[in-house]
Amino acid sequence: MKRRAFLKTTTLAVGVATLSGCYKEEKIKSVNINRGKKVKLKLATSWPSHFPIMGTGVDEFAKRCLELSGGTLEIKVYPKNILVPALQVFDATSAGQIDIFHSGVYYWKGKNSAFSIFGGMPLGLLSDEMVTWLKFGGGMELWRELYAKFNLYPLIGGSTGPQMGGWFKKEIESLEDLKGLKMRIPGLGGEVMKRLGVNPILIPAGEIYTALERGTIDATEWVGPALDILMGFDRVAKYYYKGWHEPGSILEITFNKARWDKLSSEHKAIIETSSDAMTARMVEEFRYKNAEALQELIRKGVEIKSFPDEVVREAKEKLNGVLADESKRNPDFKRVLESYNRFVALNSPWSDISTKHILEIRG
Ligand code: CA
Repeated sequence: MKRRAFLKTTTLAVGVATLSGCYKEEKIKSVNINRGKKVKLKLATSWPSHFPIMGTGVDEFAKRCLELSGGTLEIKVYPKNILVPALQVFDATSAGQIDIFHSGVYYWKGKNSAFSIFGGMPLGLLSDEMVTWLKFGGGMELWRELYAKFNLYPLIGGSTGPQMGGWFKKEIESLEDLKGLKMRIPGLGGEVMKRLGVNPILIPAGEIYTALERGTIDATEWVGPALDILMGFDRVAKYYYKGWHEPGSILEITFNKARWDKLSSEHKAIIETSSDAMTARMVEEFRYKNAEALQELIRKGVEIKSFPDEVVREAKEKLNGVLADESKRNPDFKRVLESYNRFVALNSPWSDISTKHILEIRG
């Protein structure tokens, strides 16, 4: 009975062909459009206000939800540190203090190391392949099962596309050059670097430039040309290395689960559609803006470098060690990694003869 109260009667004017062949306006009476109960939700991000691509992506997501719902689903987006500190959005949403957060999955590896795999794998799947594993290969079910223990319900909230390997003040010509290097690099990539002799350091985004300039760190990774150029790293480090550690990082748009469960099926469908749209658009926007910014960086004299083969070979070895050790420590990690690896085994032969082949021959 309650539901009826939310039904709104809308009268539509439509053009109707009459027998005489002329169009005339007729009123169709009582077309009922269920726009659902008006819902207002608070979303906190880990990004500064209107942060390019990632932040504007979530702004557009909220706008799309409002438009598609005929104004009944209002999601207010709060930049970092307004409602809660940037890296407390997980706990605040889990506790129901806020309804939704938008962030990067690898930040929560301290809660459960298995989460880092949902965020992407060094030397692993690209963005579209990650999304395919999550949606069709069983990844999403595992992610939702593990997040449910924190009263959370995740959706894919965009992806960065392939990230760069980072900015280095000195060239890396051998494994030896990595020893003792101080580098800002988080996640599984950071673990691998640590085993290669690097001293991985985590510092907040706002402090990276100064740390690099003053030599507190020797190198840093960030995202890719489009966002790195805005940080000005090219002014303090000359060598820009091609990527390996974040080939397809996934972002998340995660709901307080109790809040999600109470949403109408219409609103859930609108949110799912809008998150799909956000993910596709973010990858497209990153691709375009990275391509533009790369040209600008090259014009500025930045040298694009590849890590030596022995570094890549050793990074693969160390990564396998990190994954094996973590699988022993954490059964969840083992289970998620097995799902991921099953998809990789399925996907690789097709990926090799399609995407990889075309990239190689098209020149
Ligand atoms: Ca990064």
